[in-house]
Amino acid sequence: MRRENVPLSGLTTFRIGGPCDCLYIPDNVERMTELLRGLDSAAVLGNGSNLLAADEGVRFPLVHTAGLDDVAFDGETVRAGGGTGLPELSRAAARRGLSGLEWASGIPGSLGGAVVMNAGAYGGEMSRVVTEALVFDGNGAVTVTEFDFGYRHSVFQTNPAYVVLEVTLRLFRDEPSGIAARMEETRRARNEKQPVHLPSAGSFFKRPPGHFAGTLIERCGLKGVSVGGAKVSEKHAGFIVNTGGASCGDVVRLAALVRETVYRETGVELEPEVRLLGDIHW
Ligand SMILES: Cc1cc2nc3c(=O)[nH]c(=O)nc-3n(C[C@H](O)[C@H](O)[C@H](O)COP(=O)(O)OP(=O)(O)OC[C@H]3O[C@@H](n4cnc5c(N)ncnc54)[C@H](O)[C@@H]3O)c2cc1C
Repeated sequence: MRRENVPLSGLTTFRIGGPCDCLYIPDNVERMTELLRGLDSAAVLGNGSNLLAADEGVRFPLVHTAGLDDVAFDGETVRAGGGTGLPELSRAAARRGLSGLEWASGIPGSLGGAVVMNAGAYGGEMSRVVTEALVFDGNGAVTVTEFDFGYRHSVFQTNPAYVVLEVTLRLFRDEPSGIAARMEETRRARNEKQPVHLPSAGSFFKRPPGHFAGTLIERCGLKGVSVGGAKVSEKHAGFIVNTGGASCGDVVRLAALVRETVYRETGVELEPEVRLLGDIHW
């Protein structure tokens, strides 16, 4: 499927971003590979839950992975399309008595995006369960088994031509009641501590070594500070939320204020975890 002039605000959890001239949503791996081969340059969009998109939108083509959502379980192994929703996948695993993705049930990303970001929470991380990925490498689909995973880092961040098409995960048999209890516990913790009902891109900044970004931001008195419609969450200072009508410019100015203040007051440099889409400068 090809769509034109699509607002990025409707494709990102921040609900921010101008129009994308051309959005492709291929519905399987073969069509995705064929499409990518024919495009000179394109950016990949998963569920848009770790993205800040420019107010001016983007003029280059965007390729959405939502159509890559086939899931096949084989014993403790699962092979799933890069566009598969992480919450759906973790629930499907739980129903089969498979453990290893409980921590991911509240992360609103795609599987491909989670591998690229090496998403993690509550002691779990993609690096612990991923064994193999089928990846478009600029020419065709190749199997990758080396991921160079680190904190919110993978090999795919240093190879922008790479597109994660399918991912193989190794999970573990466990008591379904125990799996369900762990999922419920993470859901409860998220609802209690995070502003899950306001648009955001999750934790805005990476965790600086030896610190928590939210604690540093709170200690600098920045909780609740806003620029336009963008605000440092009162519930969790590590989140920047869109309180309604925030522009990308509002978020950039607020993030700059937070970084400058935290550096001045504590000497710690905050690095954004959120990825940028379009012409955005910090
Ligand atoms: C409420 C909320 C809570 C969150 N909690 C957490 C958390 O606990 N832990 C955590 O780690 N993150 C968290 N996040 C952030 C985010 O959900 C994760 O980083 C997620 O893995 C991003 O996946 P995505 O599909 O949305 O990626 P996108 O935001 O669409 O893309 C992120 C980056 O990956 C690239 N990309 C996406 N898919 C592919 C692909 N198939 N191939 C190649 N490149 C690709 C994009 O080009 C972009 O650079 C949270 C976000 C929100 C809004």
